[in-house]
Amino acid sequence: VPLLQLADVRKRYNIGQPNEAEVLRGVSLTLQPGEFAALIGPSGSGKSTLLNIIGLLEPLTTGSYQLQGDEVAGLDDAALTLRRRTTLGFVFQFHHLLPAFTALENVTLPALMREGAVSAAETDRALAMLQAVGLAQAAAKRPGQLSGGMQQRVAIARALVLQPPLVLADEPTGNLDTASSDEVFKLMRHMHATLNTAFLIVTHDPRLAARCDRVIELVDGRIQRDERQVPTGADN
Ligand code: ADP
Ligand code: ADP
Repeated sequence: VPLLQLADVRKRYNIGQPNEAEVLRGVSLTLQPGEFAALIGPSGSGKSTLLNIIGLLEPLTTGSYQLQGDEVAGLDDAALTLRRRTTLGFVFQFHHLLPAFTALENVTLPALMREGAVSAAETDRALAMLQAVGLAQAAAKRPGQLSGGMQQRVAIARALVLQPPLVLADEPTGNLDTASSDEVFKLMRHMHATLNTAFLIVTHDPRLAARCDRVIELVDGRIQRDERQVPTGADN
């Protein structure tokens, strides 16, 4: 079963109003488990909209979206939320960590959201994930005490802690300098290799896109290019 399959997905905003706009215009896309793909394209081409639809954060207007074999296009909010929490991890351009929580507490958030409480086993799991991203030492620190790159590493640990089959990342390195950006990207590749989690990464950085296994390019709400490639970079 494919991880996800979109068929002729369209998204219109402001339907019936003078400013109605079709920002996704017939997108069909299949992602297999364990892929590591970049989503690129000019500003305004629909990347965030597509990621939000895949992330079950926004409904599509027409078309079909099968997630692990199940049609999810018509599900109600409660079902979507459940599905989101069990299937998807998110990394954003701005880390969206809670400033008053420690790094460890931030990584236990998905468990808290899903189960309403954090068990000792889940705290252990969060700590192991922080260790996996190289931040065991920072467990008790708050986001404000960490560098931008470290904050994104915490966000990656949080996205992965429940081991979702897919992580969606919207410009995860867009706010970082080149060195931190490389480090964060390398970490995503490493976690992909370790956990076999699929990643779909929106990026403006052609260097990072070149280091993915597949490049999907959106132009004007349509997929203009979708190619598998041998990623560049010896150590990635
Ligand atoms: P990208 O991520 O590639 O920059 P977006 O998905 O953010 O593209 O936006 C695609 C187009 O849809 C843009 O023209 C944007 O202005 C428009 N758009 C995005 N979200 C909304 C919305 N909530 N309401 C109306 N238009 C929107
Ligand atoms: P990006 O360039 O990173 O894709 P945007 O600035 O396009 O981000 O969009 C940021 C947020 O604002 C998104 O959640 C998008 O849905 C929303 N948005 C974008 N364009 C519009 C718009 N024209 N009207 C309403 N919301 C919009």
